[in-house]
Amino acid sequence: MECTPIARKRAAYDLEMSEDLPVFRYHSDPVSTGSVVREDTTCDLCRLERGWRYAGPAYGRKRAPASICPWCVADGSAAEIFDLVFVDTHGSGGVAPGVVDELTKRTPGYTAWQQEEWCFHCSDACDYLGPVGSSELRDLPEEASSAVQGVLADWAQSDEERITLFEMLRRDGDLTAYLFRCLHCGEFRARCDSA
Ligand SMILES: [Zn+2]
Ligand SMILES: [Zn+2]
Repeated sequence: MECTPIARKRAAYDLEMSEDLPVFRYHSDPVSTGSVVREDTTCDLCRLERGWRYAGPAYGRKRAPASICPWCVADGSAAEIFDLVFVDTHGSGGVAPGVVDELTKRTPGYTAWQQEEWCFHCSDACDYLGPVGSSELRDLPEEASSAVQGVLADWAQSDEERITLFEMLRRDGDLTAYLFRCLHCGEFRARCDSA
């Protein structure tokens, strides 16, 4: 997915800033996953028109602001000032508090059908690669499909049902797999969710 800088209005006070999107350790390409979208909008926090808007979930007691830029996600300011987390850490036991902090407060989340759950491996959070269906999985390494089959095996009563479920997976359909990869050993991990 291309990430070329786009033309945008310079801030009134002529702030010099990088046009490259911030780097997220646990969400390496949030444009391809759909959690960061190109949009000419002013960030509700930094008041800059960055050309990109965070489009993932935000959890908090108060209503989340309409527009947050990825830079205000990356530096933790949006989480702190609006009292939000972007990732629900259900099931994150065993990783260091610093990892949980970076994942929940400084990482773009992703939207699933019912419940977003991050994957963890090698005592760390994994890199989220995005939603996939069976056709995307065919173009990915065999290990990615194996990770998804492993999740579906827990849902299915039989091998036939598991294979049927696998074939039903769609990136934009009612049954979707969410792919992750361990930053340390490279193992693929997956979640599946249905409408
Ligand atoms: Zn901002
Ligand atoms: Zn690992």
